[in-house]
This record gives sequence, C-alpha cells and structure tokens, in this order.
Amino acid sequence: MLLDCGNGVFSKLRRYRDYTKVDTVVISHLHADHFLDLVPFSYALTYAPRQQPMPVDRWPGTDSPARPKLFAPRGATEFFRRVVGAWGNEDLIENAFDLKEFSPDDVIEVGTMRFTFQDVPHFTETFAIDIASTNGGGRITYGADCSPNEALVEFARETDLLIVEATLPRPERTGIRGHLTPSEAAEHAMRANVKRVLLTHVSDELDELWVQKCAGKVFPGPVAVAREGAVYETSGFVVPRAAAQPAPQPVASAT
Ligand SMILES: [Zn+2]
Ligand SMILES: [Zn+2]
Repeated sequence: MLLDCGNGVFSKLRRYRDYTKVDTVVISHLHADHFLDLVPFSYALTYAPRQQPMPVDRWPGTDSPARPKLFAPRGATEFFRRVVGAWGNEDLIENAFDLKEFSPDDVIEVGTMRFTFQDVPHFTETFAIDIASTNGGGRITYGADCSPNEALVEFARETDLLIVEATLPRPERTGIRGHLTPSEAAEHAMRANVKRVLLTHVSDELDELWVQKCAGKVFPGPVAVAREGAVYETSGFVVPRAAAQPAPQPVASAT
C-alpha cells in the first residue's frame, strides 16, 4: 500500500518495491506534493513492456497487467482529467488505476489494514488517515497537511504511531493557516496521548536536529524526523540503512 504519491515518489518507490506489486494507493488530498507522481506511475503501468499482452523482448506478455486500486478524495476523477488533459490524454490515471473516490465516512479494507478518514483544515479538502491492523499489528495515524485543529487530536487518540507534518519553522504570519510547526505537531501528539511521533513534510533545508528538539520539548515520548528509506514500526522505531531492492527481472528470456 502506498499512502500519498507526491513529486519524486515513483522513482524512489522503484528502489524498494516492484511497482506492479502495489495493491493500493490512497491519496489524502489533491495537492501536487501528494499526488503528482501518479502521472509517471500511470505511464509505467500503461506502457511497461511486462504490462503488455504480447511478448516483447524478454517479457512473456500478460493477460492480467497490474492495475492497483487508487482511493482519492471526492472530485478526484475530474481533477486528474484536468491535470493530464493539459497535454491530451485525460483518462491516463483512471485507466492505469482502478480509481475510486472515497467519502469521509467510508471504511476501506485492504488486506489486513483498515482505513478510516477524518476531515482536517487545510487549503483544500484534506483527510487525515488512520490505518488499523485487523490482525493485531497496531495502528498508524497520518495527519496529512493541516493547520492546528482539534479533530486530529481526537482522531489520533492513543494511536501507536502518529505521522504528522511539521512543515513550518514558524507559524504563518498572514492569511489562513494551513500547516503546523514542529512544536504544534508535538502538541497534537501529546494531547492525543499517542505512543510515538514521526515528523514529516519537513524541508531538508531545515536542521533536522532543531526540528526534533522543538518537538521533543513538547512530546514526552519518542520523536523522529522521517528519513527516506527508513523503516518505522508501530512497536518502536527501527531506522536501518535503506535497503534497495534489485530491479525486477523477466520471468522468461528469448534466445
Ligand atoms: Zn497540502
Ligand atoms: Zn503537502
């Protein structure tokens, strides 16, 4: 399962997983940094040699090309048509994926994961997403992008791992608020009594240690700043070195 698919994600995903093995993609809101790489992902699913019905080069051909489920907020179908329609193939994403628009009250089950949604305040309709294991594997709550709000505190209550944005080095000075500072993110975690916090949506041009310290002053439990390639578990932080997987190989080869 892939949660959000912003710019740069698809090429990074390919370092760790075979993209044709992704069952489901869930999108929290329709901002470019959360959905834009659905475009290269869709091109890969559509045009990859091993996704074709006829044998090509080293690939044997397939009658059942991968077509992952894609859950996105209401209005996503029309929205994606406008984005890719800008250069002419407006049905690219809905053809490549099995696209379904979710409503805030929906409960989606994918394998042993149960997804629920909570509206949070941001510049466009945005959902925090809770992923609960149905076989005792714990619970992860993802805050998406949001300004300070009470709904996320209630939604994340007692969760094992809160993944929360800590975008701002200081609160927005003017206009409508849309994001959190590291201390605000930690304050949500503390009030929700979560077990551990993973700060995300942080610029790599900020000092990671400063971000972690700001949050650590407010939240008494374990706090980490998300790193590419790292693994975080609901039972405790594990941050091994990134283990890239080799590219998938053809299952048959021609002479
Ligand atoms: Zn956003
Ligand atoms: Zn964002």
